[in-house]
Amino acid sequence: MRSVKLGNTGLTVTKPAFGALPIQRRDKDEAVRILRRAYEGGIRYFDTANAYTDSEEKIGLALAGVRENIVISTKSTGRDYDTVAKHIQTSLERLKTDYIDLFQFHMVSDWDEVDNGAYQAALDAKAKGYIRHIGVTSHSIRFSEEAVASGRFETLQFPFSYLSSDEEVALVRSCLNAGMGFIAMKALAGGMLANARAVHAFMREQDGVVPIYGVQTMEELEQWLALADEDPAMTDELQAVIDKDRAELGGQFCRSCGYCMPCPQGIEIRQCARMDMLIRRSPWRPYFTPEWQAKMNKINDCVNCGRCKSKCPYHLDTPNVLKYMLKDYWEFYEAHKAEL
Ligand code: SF4
Ligand code: SF4
Repeated sequence: MRSVKLGNTGLTVTKPAFGALPIQRRDKDEAVRILRRAYEGGIRYFDTANAYTDSEEKIGLALAGVRENIVISTKSTGRDYDTVAKHIQTSLERLKTDYIDLFQFHMVSDWDEVDNGAYQAALDAKAKGYIRHIGVTSHSIRFSEEAVASGRFETLQFPFSYLSSDEEVALVRSCLNAGMGFIAMKALAGGMLANARAVHAFMREQDGVVPIYGVQTMEELEQWLALADEDPAMTDELQAVIDKDRAELGGQFCRSCGYCMPCPQGIEIRQCARMDMLIRRSPWRPYFTPEWQAKMNKINDCVNCGRCKSKCPYHLDTPNVLKYMLKDYWEFYEAHKAEL
């Protein structure tokens, strides 16, 4: 398995990393089996978060015995001193460890979120040896550019895939040039990219970039382990897959990041705002159950408050995207209902 130096941290991590958000949805025994198989298969970097319910606890259960051989990063959504300090202690207990390799401020888009005591709590935790390095995760390109320029973080975790814009690619370069580690979240663009081989071949070419693949099932894990072993390079055929996805998806699509949630009208924006792709790029029948039809029809309750649009880091005109999705959804239904 390939490995990457994480900026100037001194940490060397496997490429890819294990994203431990989805194991929240597995029972403990299965999550432990998946995590141990990941370790046996050669993965040595596990990324989790205080906010991922029992994900940290499952990592602690599965991997405490091999703690010295792995790198663990976790995150806190705390925005003040006491919350961050408490989250770090909770993470240590859940992970059954006395240190966290990389602590990250979770989903930051403004300096207020780290400067009201939160950053100081991380510095104090680092001085006490509870955490070894301080990083940040963000979906905001503006904040991320400032974070790189500030020199205050050792790593940046940001969405990055072969659909990323030129601006986002430039962010990766400046991050690496600044000696920061770059950790790619949403390497599958929120589930939009179905060809794992193309994703692997693309990431293989991104020197210094560590992709995190969220793993929910043993089958998904085996797929990533097999690709890591085989390590396929880019080919004309894979490049054609990438070119087709770029042409179809472009830069303007919902990444399902959830920054715009909750909607005061209860609309499930992060799923509904990309329904055109969900029904065309994955099996479509599960999206036409009575529950899904009701979720989509909730879009009719939108009161155009604009809250979602103002929060979208990708500058989507979310209320109008939703209206388009609802129209497209029922047109698709009319065209396919005989096959339901
Ligand atoms: S504009 Fe519509 S979809 Fe967006 S938050 Fe307001 S009510 Fe919800
Ligand atoms: S509309 Fe924007 S903020 Fe909301 S989930 Fe999609 S990409 Fe994220």
